[in-house]
Amino acid sequence: MILILVPNTRPESPEYKQLMAHLANFTGISTRVHTEVGIEQTLTEIYLIGNTKVLSIEDVSCLPCVDSVVRVSEEYRVLGRHKNDDRATYFEYNGVRFGQDTLNVFAGLCAVDTIEHVEMMMKALREHGQVCTRMGAYKPRTSPYAFQGHGKTCLPYVFDMAGKYGIKVIAMEITHESHLEEIRNALYQTGSATGVMLQIGTRNTQNFELLKIVGRQQNFPVLIKRGFGITLDESLNAAEYLASEGNRKVIFGLRGMKTNMGDPHRNFVDFSHVPAVKRLTRMPVCIDPSHSVGTRASSPEGILDIMHVTAQGIVAGANMVLVDFHPAPSNALVDGPQALLIKELPQFLEDIQIAREAYEKRTLLAERYREI
Ligand code: PEP
Ligand code: MN
Repeated sequence: MILILVPNTRPESPEYKQLMAHLANFTGISTRVHTEVGIEQTLTEIYLIGNTKVLSIEDVSCLPCVDSVVRVSEEYRVLGRHKNDDRATYFEYNGVRFGQDTLNVFAGLCAVDTIEHVEMMMKALREHGQVCTRMGAYKPRTSPYAFQGHGKTCLPYVFDMAGKYGIKVIAMEITHESHLEEIRNALYQTGSATGVMLQIGTRNTQNFELLKIVGRQQNFPVLIKRGFGITLDESLNAAEYLASEGNRKVIFGLRGMKTNMGDPHRNFVDFSHVPAVKRLTRMPVCIDPSHSVGTRASSPEGILDIMHVTAQGIVAGANMVLVDFHPAPSNALVDGPQALLIKELPQFLEDIQIAREAYEKRTLLAERYREI
């Protein structure tokens, strides 16, 4: 059960103390307090854990400072959607809103290789009105002999360039807790020139210790990718690890499943799960068409498969697109064969716009039919 308190309730207020004293009397029920400090208000939620079946919503609603009460199902307690649950389905980070109602594009380098390529990418993004990008510094690779990413050495110039070109959020995968500190230090050194969205890659979806550490900090939002060989439920529980440790700024990423049933694509595209994740949870949903499709193959009408699946995800309501671009894919150190070209950026963005408009029209159509 979740008690949502009246906004801006102060822990030192007599009403709050009275509430906590009352809750302490419930036998077999423990409490966990979560505070979300927003620009306009501070929201406090109290999780009651244990045998809450004996409590009635009506009684608990009458306790001091309680604004509303949500009885949670077992599934995804913090991030899930429950009955009468009108908790937010969005968050803000560094001036950018991420929600189940927004759409953000993160086009960028799979892996940072040279400062020149970083600059060419960011310059193109600014020219096309984009404020988000992806830049891999820590790369989990199948072969230990493959390029592992420049790691912390590239962070200062990546963040400086982001500041120069007005990039507000960089999605960046981390594979070890030490990377968190390296990112913090580099941001500090560059005067917080930009923001970072930490990415948990598909290979680490069930690295529970990493999830707990990333979940314990609330500065950086997190994009968690679906595990490529586990069920959707298992991946959603992985996201719940982040939230249960305190970080609610979580986006869920679909990136295709590993099976040869998806051939000729690199992974079996799973964007039909976009609406399912939005129904089951309050997380914005990201699609990664690059790692799903894995090639620059195109259909007879001349549209790249990567653009087709992007449109499919967006028509179904996706909220974020993570996509590989590269100024010179044949020189890319990671995933060159699936990179889009900088000159394809305006087409990609316009194609996304067409799909988004179709999604918006479909939403209006559904609304009209609901009223009938
Ligand atoms: C990536 O986005 O660079 C990446 C490695 O993705 P995934 O974890 O989905 O393979
Ligand atoms: Mn990649």
